[in-house]
Amino acid sequence: MSQRQPLTVTVRQIPVTITASTLIAAVVLAWLFWPTWHQLLGISVAGAVAIAAAKVLIYLLSILGHEVAHAVVGRMLGRTVSYIRLTALGGVTGFERVGSKTAPAKARNGQWLVAAAGPLANATFALAWWIIGQVIGTPESVAALIASDVARTAAWLNGALAIFNAIPGLPLDGGQVLVQLVQRRGGRPSTALLTGAWAGRATSVIVLVVLIVPALLADGRPHSLRSVWAILIAMILWQGASEALPYARTLRAVTDLDPSALWKSVEVLPPATSMSEFERIAQQHATAEKLMVVGEPTDPSRWLRLEPQAFQTVPVSARGATQLSAVSVPLSVAVVQLTGLPSPCEHLLETSQCAELIVESVGADSYRGMSGHDLRQWIQSHAAQAR
Ligand SMILES: [Zn+2]
Repeated sequence: MSQRQPLTVTVRQIPVTITASTLIAAVVLAWLFWPTWHQLLGISVAGAVAIAAAKVLIYLLSILGHEVAHAVVGRMLGRTVSYIRLTALGGVTGFERVGSKTAPAKARNGQWLVAAAGPLANATFALAWWIIGQVIGTPESVAALIASDVARTAAWLNGALAIFNAIPGLPLDGGQVLVQLVQRRGGRPSTALLTGAWAGRATSVIVLVVLIVPALLADGRPHSLRSVWAILIAMILWQGASEALPYARTLRAVTDLDPSALWKSVEVLPPATSMSEFERIAQQHATAEKLMVVGEPTDPSRWLRLEPQAFQTVPVSARGATQLSAVSVPLSVAVVQLTGLPSPCEHLLETSQCAELIVESVGADSYRGMSGHDLRQWIQSHAAQAR
């Protein structure tokens, strides 16, 4: 991650980042909250700001709790959490792609649970805060009044987060659940994604209508602050939903394609192989079109690839004494198991986004592979033809 992030802490090996936009959202929220207490009850500015800060902290903890719920359920299903990031409008939990070898089948089948965990966490927090509010009861002192107000705000915030995120349209969690459920009921991944994306677009229109039309009918003109919110939320939803469409269309285009022509055999050369030995082997294979990598056959995650420029800088006279590891760079390898999958291309499409080399085991320490670049080009050309 080369981007500069203002605040990152690592919790149980997961980097948790609070982005600048979160802090801006926090200040705006505090700004909305603090005058109420100052004006209504004559509490000092410092006191009112402290109450507002407490509410903002609860808001941040609520979205953090939402993301942690995604992460915990994901981990329970065997997925690897890459990061948690808090943004202005909530958060993102990044997982290693399901296409990678670290994701077992239960992780693929349980993706809807991972998505549902976030809104469910907020619903639980909302209930807990509501109960705290009930326990405080009718406040009789200023302290109790403040506690009751904080609890009510926290319940309201979490309820809003739960309901908003549960809306069944992409990019929201509810949309992810919808996509997974369509797939589990036998729908193709492309159909599921298209459903989620169009549901997301429909949701954005519904948000606009629900937030603007009632005021329009009652007062003859829209409520200005609410309209700004409605337009902002609708735009973000529309944008997020639309981002899923090109991928879904590509997925639909490649779904029935057979990628097997792209496989090549992989030859794994030990790192201690000399450069001149490699040149001799390469000449033998000149017509066979093998993929040559450097490393141990047992561990594809640590394979290297030859760096042609570094290779060229070594004079021919020195190549007998120079090992391949000296002119190689790390290679990102995705190990897949496509045999038996109904549509291997759908699986490969996801994997191809992140790997330079995709390999499948074809026996003890023996692999076939395809270049991620070749695969991406092949998929793009077929997707373009289908349009
Ligand atoms: Zn979520």
